[in-house]
Amino acid sequence: MILTGGTVVSSLDPVQIARHDVHVANGRVAADGGAERRDCSGCLVVPGNVCAHTHLYSALARGMPYDLAPPENFLQILQRIWWRLDRALDEESVRASALVGGMEALLSGTTTLVDHHASPNAIDGSLDVIEDALRSLGIRSVLCYETSDRDGPERAQAGVAENRRFIERVLREKPPLVRGLVGAHASFTLSDETLAACAAAASELEVGLHVHAAEDAVDELDSVALHGIGAVARLAHAGALDGRTLLAHGVHLDDEEIGLVHAASSTLAHNARSNMNNAVGRAGLGALGLRVALGTDGIGSDMFEESRAAFFRLREDHSGAGADWPLARLSQGARLVGAAFDEQHLGRIETGAPADLVVLDYATPAPLHAGSFPGHWVFGLGSRHVRDVMVDGEWVVLDRRLTRTDAQELAMGARAQAERLWMRLADIGPHEFEPKGGRR
Ligand SMILES: [Zn+2]
Repeated sequence: MILTGGTVVSSLDPVQIARHDVHVANGRVAADGGAERRDCSGCLVVPGNVCAHTHLYSALARGMPYDLAPPENFLQILQRIWWRLDRALDEESVRASALVGGMEALLSGTTTLVDHHASPNAIDGSLDVIEDALRSLGIRSVLCYETSDRDGPERAQAGVAENRRFIERVLREKPPLVRGLVGAHASFTLSDETLAACAAAASELEVGLHVHAAEDAVDELDSVALHGIGAVARLAHAGALDGRTLLAHGVHLDDEEIGLVHAASSTLAHNARSNMNNAVGRAGLGALGLRVALGTDGIGSDMFEESRAAFFRLREDHSGAGADWPLARLSQGARLVGAAFDEQHLGRIETGAPADLVVLDYATPAPLHAGSFPGHWVFGLGSRHVRDVMVDGEWVVLDRRLTRTDAQELAMGARAQAERLWMRLADIGPHEFEPKGGRR
């Protein structure tokens, strides 16, 4: 395959742009070769976007009925919404949510999803179901199961076992499009024993832990009350904080914990829209110098939209922040995924890199070069410009349509599953789990 005539953004951090053809062979960007041509004149060719933290299972939750008292804080949001929804999930709704979530990701130019999955009544094999659904679309992913003690010790053990089983298999089989991390919910729903089991699995399998950390004050307060240290310090003491660790949110990290994250070179997935939606507070990311990537926390997977929201939120506190900030964050997400796949060039369009790229049909109204591109990203470009998407050298979206499957058909199947899911949900009450360290 040769992509001809486009303006190629070969790197997001630092931004590098040139006009040249892109050759693709054997799933990778190549120096030359290819026979089939795709005209990209007037288009931008950019690295595929990475969503560094999402929950595909929330795809069927859009607009679902809610007739309990309105939640007044983050813990109640979990107890009354998400911990009811996850208990209502079965294999078919997990599959349907992965299919429509993956479909929407590709159509918005996201080529990799880092997912964090919970289905306490359908744990065993759930990661295979998601893998299978995402493979059928041709999207890349890094999966994990959300281990937690909130539904009892058996389910905590089953969560660890599901992570182990899945990761052992993907490390053995090395499927082209999927890898695993060890997933855990958050310090405030993890016993010492379960946290130790997660840390041991991550260490033995040589993968990272993917865990919510200090998303809300409740996580920090609980850890301080029970263990005398903050949630991230607790992870560090458990041996779960290293260069492979992916921490989601980090809104309430204290100075000591910021130092720990920095020293461990862990990645922090920032989810600006979710933080606003759940009123958990404002992550102080501007001056930290941490390795920050961008996630959606399940609010779709449009990284143009997320980039913009994160940027404007940042600018409220730091009016001098540059428009290249979200690009560097996306690049960090790609580095994290590249590490999981042992592909250090992932996220770049250069010889040898996995061919994950997006063709944007963008009639630029102002000069476009390396210096101006960040401004175009924040103030102009969007998923509406996504024309074609390639993952691992294969076109999975062409002319705004999925190549492997019919989007309307997928959506129809999802709607049927959503109706059943919502009916089951109506019979599930608020979750009774309370943090042992008390609540704010
Ligand atoms: Zn999350």
